[in-house]
Amino acid sequence: MVNFELSKEHQELVAKTKDFADRFVRPVARQHDLSCEFPWSVVQKAYDEGVINGAIPKAYGGAGHNSFEGCLASEELGAACSGIGICIDANNLALTPLLVGASDDMKKRVFGHLVESRGLAAFCLTEPEAGSDAGAVSTTAVKQGDKYVINGKKRFITNGKQAIYHTVFCNTDPGRGARGMSAIVVPADTPGVIIGRELPKMGQRASCQVEIEYKDVAVPLDNVVGKENQGFLIAMKTFNRTRAGVASAAVGMAREAYETAKKWSLNRRQFGQPIASFQAIGFMFADMLTEITASRFLVWNAAILTDQDKEVGTTSAMAKYYATDVAMKVATNCVQIMGGDGYSQDYIVEKIMRDAKLSQIYEGTNQVQRLVVAKNTLK
Ligand SMILES: Cc1cc2nc3c(=O)[nH]c(=O)nc-3n(C[C@H](O)[C@H](O)[C@H](O)COP(=O)(O)OP(=O)(O)OC[C@H]3O[C@@H](n4cnc5c(N)ncnc54)[C@H](O)[C@@H]3O)c2cc1C
Repeated sequence: MVNFELSKEHQELVAKTKDFADRFVRPVARQHDLSCEFPWSVVQKAYDEGVINGAIPKAYGGAGHNSFEGCLASEELGAACSGIGICIDANNLALTPLLVGASDDMKKRVFGHLVESRGLAAFCLTEPEAGSDAGAVSTTAVKQGDKYVINGKKRFITNGKQAIYHTVFCNTDPGRGARGMSAIVVPADTPGVIIGRELPKMGQRASCQVEIEYKDVAVPLDNVVGKENQGFLIAMKTFNRTRAGVASAAVGMAREAYETAKKWSLNRRQFGQPIASFQAIGFMFADMLTEITASRFLVWNAAILTDQDKEVGTTSAMAKYYATDVAMKVATNCVQIMGGDGYSQDYIVEKIMRDAKLSQIYEGTNQVQRLVVAKNTLK
């Protein structure tokens, strides 16, 4: 029988993550949004409380969440502050290529050192000339003796400045385009790793994105994840797994905006009655609740398919674009419902509106997600 109720263990995970978010994330969310200061102390608390590295199996020192459990946790972090949430969750994106393709030895080596150092990792795919067209990366990794020598530039790299490991997508066989791409693990302290400009941005301002230049960066040949030239496949398999996490954080953002506006509009009175009692407003709440609920079930569907090792490309793309579009729409509506209060920084909904916009763009824009769904369904 299909059952949408969470098990006792799942409820405990939600409660644990919510408790972490209430104690350490919510109280500082606005402060980090305004200052753009990296939330190092929250990241360290996430290590203390076991709320980071969810995707890393327990055997390697992580929390060992499956995709469904990861989504439950991401929704709570997304609700509290998606900017701080991605500082914590970016480790899952950076490390999933290793889960997908690396040898046991490499996982032990990298995960072990990362967890022991209580460190961060960065997923380094996007380049100035390779955004949506991810297969067009021009960063090269050339074999010289027992090393790869990496040269190229990346941009928009989340946690790139803070990370101790970079998972860098390089071209190892330039004539073959996407089929010549490899994922290579680069320790950030390797000579030639140059951290550049920080991206000034609209939302999720607690998080930090940088440009990175790799200038004659030499790493051992066994730092390649899986086999050479499998990098594009590894990146796509990674996104199939991680997009449900982005989508569930968006469900959290939408939920938080909805709850804030609901509380406000039950109290705020105009024309002698609560704002919530006007039918035009009530219908907006009805639509928002329906769409948030639909998003959550679509996200859970993608996560469950991932956990069952079934084909998830179409469903995870649907979940990503639907949930993030809903988050943007809900946040915008909540600002509207709350009028001047909604637009002011006295309430969180204006921040969520700015934060939600980003979720429609990163980990593949929503146009690209629609391309994936259209291509798969129109075969
Ligand atoms: C804050 C932030 C954090 C990020 N973090 C990371 C990270 O950690 N690691 C990483 O590697 N990358 C990261 N990215 C990069 C992100 O994944 C890219 O920005 C995204 O994939 C889009 O690429 P682009 O910005 O180059 O846009 P472009 O590819 O230049 O696209 C511009 C517009 O054209 C549209 N478009 C492009 N191609 C098509 C098409 N075929 N059909 C229809 N429309 C199309 C796009 O949807 C978009 O609206 C981050 C970006 C941001 C802003």
